[in-house]
Amino acid sequence: MHLKDSIQKAAQYIREGKVVAFPTETVYGLGANALDPFAVAKIFELKERPSFDPLIVHIAALSELDALIAEKDERIYALAEKFWPGPLTLVLPKSKLVPDLVTSGMATVGIRMPAHPVALELIAAAQCPLAAPSANKFGRISPTTAAHVRKQLPEVDYILDGGKTTVGIESTIIRLTYKGFQLLRSGVITQEEIASILPFDSSGVMEKSLAPGMLKSHYSPRKRMLIADEKLLETTDLSHAGLISFTGKHTAPFKRVIEVSERNDLRDYAVNLFAAMHSLEDDPEIDLIIAEAVAETGIGKAIMDRLKKAEYDWRRMGL
Ligand code: AMP
Ligand code: MG
Repeated sequence: MHLKDSIQKAAQYIREGKVVAFPTETVYGLGANALDPFAVAKIFELKERPSFDPLIVHIAALSELDALIAEKDERIYALAEKFWPGPLTLVLPKSKLVPDLVTSGMATVGIRMPAHPVALELIAAAQCPLAAPSANKFGRISPTTAAHVRKQLPEVDYILDGGKTTVGIESTIIRLTYKGFQLLRSGVITQEEIASILPFDSSGVMEKSLAPGMLKSHYSPRKRMLIADEKLLETTDLSHAGLISFTGKHTAPFKRVIEVSERNDLRDYAVNLFAAMHSLEDDPEIDLIIAEAVAETGIGKAIMDRLKKAEYDWRRMGL
């Protein structure tokens, strides 16, 4: 089927209250009509996602925003002008139109306009905003291809295949405060870039209740995964280990090495990280996944956030 027809079919499914997996520039989403609580409930069910973890609402045009939010705020439009469509989610006071299930009962809703032509066309054709988390089982590795979705969610009503995603990790999430913005999740749009539009508000520690889905463990492969450190590399048998390599160093003793960037660019690490994790998770010859660490500045902060969450449960079990 041609992509245009597939988009129309997916939009039809959305209008019927079904759930559809679709590509965005960050990762594949599992979408349903954000204004239909019964459709949204199916997302939670399919993903096995706890109901305390709110969903991001995706729009295709700025004109859709007003109906979803409680108050207009000039700063939203300044941010949208610079970063939308793109991987930035704004957490804003919600209107009554947004069902409580979408926001886990909170008074705020996360909204973004994705920069993927297929996602934009789908939302426009469905004629409703789409609530969509990543199209994977809760806590597991996010999907960056349609095949990754099929692996974890074979029962989903429809998977719209738009090829490999071009950003690779989830959106940056911010909330607006009286002083400026606070960062709830890091992504490829960095705090420094956003600060060129709006001051960064460093007051107040991030409370768990502000971003309830931000658990310590997430993006977790079924196989042991650890961030590389000297002790680990010296004391571990690496003959069945796979390395996710950024700099191209430490290649020798590994069974397999996946280079995420030939040109040492952190954007490539973001693009290829989840695909590398999926590939090593699926490889029967690999029983340990090791990922190279990067400096926690700029996009490196978002990459280390994903790596730390991916290794969290495994690290706790000890080396
Ligand atoms: P994703 O993992 O990309 O589906 O993004 C969902 C995450 O966005 C949730 O786990 C929350 O941490 C965050 N989020 C969504 N809506 C809100 C909200 N209203 N307030 C705070 N965080 C939110
Ligand atoms: Mg997710």
